[in-house]
Amino acid sequence: MTVHIHPSIDNGVQKGSGNFAGGTLVCKCTDRPVKVAIKGDVAHNHACGCTKCWKPEGAMFSVVAVVPRQNLTVLENGDKLQIVDSSAVIQRYACKDCGTHMYGRIENKAHPFYGLDFIHPELFQESGSAAPGFAAFVSSVIESGAKPEEMPAIRGRLKELGLEPYDCLSPALMDAIATHVAKSKAA
Ligand SMILES: [Zn+2]
Ligand SMILES: [Zn+2]
Repeated sequence: MTVHIHPSIDNGVQKGSGNFAGGTLVCKCTDRPVKVAIKGDVAHNHACGCTKCWKPEGAMFSVVAVVPRQNLTVLENGDKLQIVDSSAVIQRYACKDCGTHMYGRIENKAHPFYGLDFIHPELFQESGSAAPGFAAFVSSVIESGAKPEEMPAIRGRLKELGLEPYDCLSPALMDAIATHVAKSKAA
């Protein structure tokens, strides 16, 4: 079975340049595309199997990373952005016309990831941003249609691509969340 993870990594994970200065995310519209400027490189880039992240047509996983929210600016056609689900923890701003999610923002100041915006690096016009380094919420692809018996092949392919599969977030991010929780309990 050929496992398609995501078009930007199916032919191998492209390494980042290591000194990506930032760039512009562009939605899929040919007319008045939404453009979002990002300062500096992305962090914690990963493949995500959750059902909430935006993925291009036919992809099983999204590719998603974070940037400090102060490094993100909507440049053009921001009037086309709308929040997908205002009750979600992450408010995902999508283009009304093409459906592409341009960024996700957390407004709850108590959330461990407050201050970080979620973006999809494949939307950069420029190449060289930090490469995905792991796969998160892998078991969740079953919720979007993968068969349980396909999971060994899917995890195998992720490993082959150098993306260690986790069924929640990576240990580093899980530790960051737990540290945040521990600190807020102590406070
Ligand atoms: Zn669009
Ligand atoms: Zn996700």
